[in-house]
Amino acid sequence: MTFTIKKFSFVILFLLFGVLYGVFATYYFDQREQTASVILKSLQNDMSELSYILSKNIKSKNNVHALRAMLERSASNNDFIDAIIIADDTEILFTTDRSYKKIPSTFLLSNTLAMDSYSKLLDKRGVEGVVRFYEKAVQHELHLLFMLDQEEVVSHFEKNKTRFLLFFGLIPIIIPSIIWIALRYFVFRPLELLRQYAYYQNMIPKSFWLSELEAIRSSMVQTFTRLEDEQKELYQVARTDALSGLANRNALHEFLDRLIADSRRTEKEFAFMFLDLDHFKDVNDALGHKVGDELLKQVASVVQEVLRSNDFVARVGGDEFVIVLHQYNSLYELTSIIKRIQERLSRTWIIQTHPVDVTSSVGVAFFPKDGEDIGSLMQHADIAMYEAKNKGRAQYHFFTEELNAKVQESIALDKSMREALKENEYELFYQPKISLTTGEIIGAEALIRWISPTKGIVLPNVFIPLAEENGFIIELGNWILENALKQQVQWQEQGVDITVSINIATQQLLDGSFEKKLKKLLKRYDNDPSKIDFEITEYLFLEQTEINTEKLDMVHKEGISISLDDFGTGYSSLSYLKDFPIDHLKIDKAFVDDYDKPQGAVFLETIVKMGQTLGMDIIAEGVENKQQVDYLKSIGCDIYQGYYCSKPLSVKDFEKFYTDYVPFQCNMT
Ligand code: C2E
Ligand code: CA
Ligand code: CA
Repeated sequence: MTFTIKKFSFVILFLLFGVLYGVFATYYFDQREQTASVILKSLQNDMSELSYILSKNIKSKNNVHALRAMLERSASNNDFIDAIIIADDTEILFTTDRSYKKIPSTFLLSNTLAMDSYSKLLDKRGVEGVVRFYEKAVQHELHLLFMLDQEEVVSHFEKNKTRFLLFFGLIPIIIPSIIWIALRYFVFRPLELLRQYAYYQNMIPKSFWLSELEAIRSSMVQTFTRLEDEQKELYQVARTDALSGLANRNALHEFLDRLIADSRRTEKEFAFMFLDLDHFKDVNDALGHKVGDELLKQVASVVQEVLRSNDFVARVGGDEFVIVLHQYNSLYELTSIIKRIQERLSRTWIIQTHPVDVTSSVGVAFFPKDGEDIGSLMQHADIAMYEAKNKGRAQYHFFTEELNAKVQESIALDKSMREALKENEYELFYQPKISLTTGEIIGAEALIRWISPTKGIVLPNVFIPLAEENGFIIELGNWILENALKQQVQWQEQGVDITVSINIATQQLLDGSFEKKLKKLLKRYDNDPSKIDFEITEYLFLEQTEINTEKLDMVHKEGISISLDDFGTGYSSLSYLKDFPIDHLKIDKAFVDDYDKPQGAVFLETIVKMGQTLGMDIIAEGVENKQQVDYLKSIGCDIYQGYYCSKPLSVKDFEKFYTDYVPFQCNMT
C-alpha cells in the first residue's frame, strides 16, 4: 500500500486538529471549574459571614423575622442566590421568597467532597450552613440555606461556553485549513504538475516557490530536453544515408506517405524518378570503393544543388537515387530540371586524382497516372529507367510511351520553333474589329501564324503555350511587336486608318528590357501611339500587382491603349477592373457563345454595363453569326470581332478586305 503526501498531510493535520481540540477542551473545562469554585467560594464566604452575623443577632427562634431586612439585602446582593431560608429540623422559620413552603427535600446533603465545584453548582439546588445561637444558655442550631438561582448559574456558564466555542472551537479548524491550503498551493499542485510533466512531457511547469521542488523541476526540464535532442538526432540518423548525407529509404517512405495523402486530397500529380549512374560498377571495380564512395558524395551534392528546397532526393541503393518533384508547372519545366541534373553530372570528374567519366539514366513515373502507391511508382520508374539504359544510357525516359512521344515532340517543336524565327517563317495575320455603332472597321488584331514548309500553317495554340513555357515568347514577342508596329505605320501611310492590337504575353511585358525595346521601336518607326493597342491577359494580375501597374502605366505614358483579353476565363476578379488602368474589355468567345442562354445573357449585359460605367469600351470576341451581332448591339456593346465578319487575314488579304468593305455588309463575301 502506498501512502500519498496528501493523505499523510491529511492525517497529520487531523491529529493536529485533535490535539488542538484537546488542548482547548482541557483549558475550557479547567476554566469552567475555576469559575465554579470561585462562585462557590463566594457563596460560602457569604454563608459564613451571614451565619456569624445571625448567630450574634438571633435571640430566639421566633425573632428570626426581625432580621428580614438584612437577609433580603444579602439575598439580592448575590446574583446567584434566589432565596435565603432559615429552618429548623422540621419547618421553615423564615424565607426571603414566600414560594418556598417546605424545606426542599433534595437538599440537606452535606458537601460531597468527591464532586467538583461545577457539578455541585449545577446539581444542588442550594448551599447549606448552620446558625448557632444561645437561648438561655442553651445552644440551638438552625439551618441556613442559600437557594441557588439555577437559571442565573446556567446562563453564566452558557455565556462563557459560547465565547469559548467561538475562539477555541474555530481555531483548531482554521489553523489546519490554512496549512492545508498552503500545502495544496505550494506542494500538492507543484507535485501534480511535475507528475503530469514526467508523464506527458507536453507542458513545462512554471518555476516553483519551494526550492527543492524547483530543483526537481529544472533538472527534469534539462533531462527531457536532452532526451528530446537525442531522440531527434537518432531520428535523423535513422533517416539519413550515412555516405551521402541525403535522405535514405526510411525517409523516402515517410515523405511519400505524406505526399501521396496530400496529392490525393489536392488531386495533384507528382513525378517520381530513379536516377542511376551509368557504369558505376566499373568505376568501383577499377578504382576501388573509396573512389566510388567519393563520386557518390559528389553526385549527391550536385543533385541537391540543382533541386529546389521543396524537392526531395534520397539515395536508396549503391548508385541509385530517387528524386521526387511535386512543384512544376509543366512537363517542359520538369524535363528541363531533369536535363539540368543530367548535364551537370555528365562530365569528367577528378576523384582523388582519377579522372572519372559519368553519365546518368533517369526513369520517371507519375502519381497517380503510373502508380497510386509507393510500390508501383518504384516499379514503374525502375522500368522506365531500364528503358533509358536500353536506349543507350545518358537519357531520361517516362514510363508511358505516350508521354515519351509527347516529350520528344515538344523537344522537336522547341527546336523547330526557334529555327523558324531564323528562317523567317512567321507571319502576322490580322482580324478586323468592327464598331457595332457605325459598322466600320476600326481596328485589327495581329495574330501570329507559322507558315512551315513542312507542316503548313501552324496555329498559335500549338506553339505559343510552349514558347511561354520555355521563354522563347520573349524573342518571338519582340519580333511580333516590331512587325505589327511596322505594319501600323505602313497602313497609316496607305490611308488604312485603323488601330492595331498586339497580343503581349505576360512574360514579355514583365521582361526587364521590354520598356527600352518598346521605346526604341516606337522611335524607329515613328508610330502614332494612339493607333496602337496592347492586349494583355488576367495572368498579369496574379502576382506583384505593384510592378505590374507600373508596367501598364508605362504603356499608357507612351500613348498606347490597353485591352484586357479573354475576360471571364481566367481568375477574373472584378476588383482589378477598378484597380488597373484598362481601356478596353474583350469578352471571351465562351461567353459570347452563351448569349442566348439566360445566364449568359445576364453575364454579358452586366459586363457591358459595368465596363462602360468604368469608362471602358467593350469588345465581343468570336462573334460568328448575325443574331449575336444584333444581340450585342441591343445591349450596347461597342465593338465586335469574329468569323462572322472575317477570319484573321494575311496583310494582302486584309488590305483587299478593307478596301472592299461596306459597313453592315459582313459575311456577304
Ligand atoms: P486570342 O488573343 O484570344 O485571339 C483570338 C483567337 O480567336 C484567335 O485565334 C482568333 O483566330 C480566334 N477567333 C476570332 N474570331 C473567332 C470566331 O468567330 N470563332 C472562333 N472559333 N475563333 C475565333 P488564334 O489566332 O488561333 O490565336 C489563339 C491564341 O494565341 C490567341 O488568343 C492568343 O492568346 C495567342 N496568340 C495569337 N497570336 C499571338 C501573338 O501575336 N502574340 C501572343 N503573345 N499570343 C498570340
Ligand atoms: Ca487577343
Ligand atoms: Ca481573346
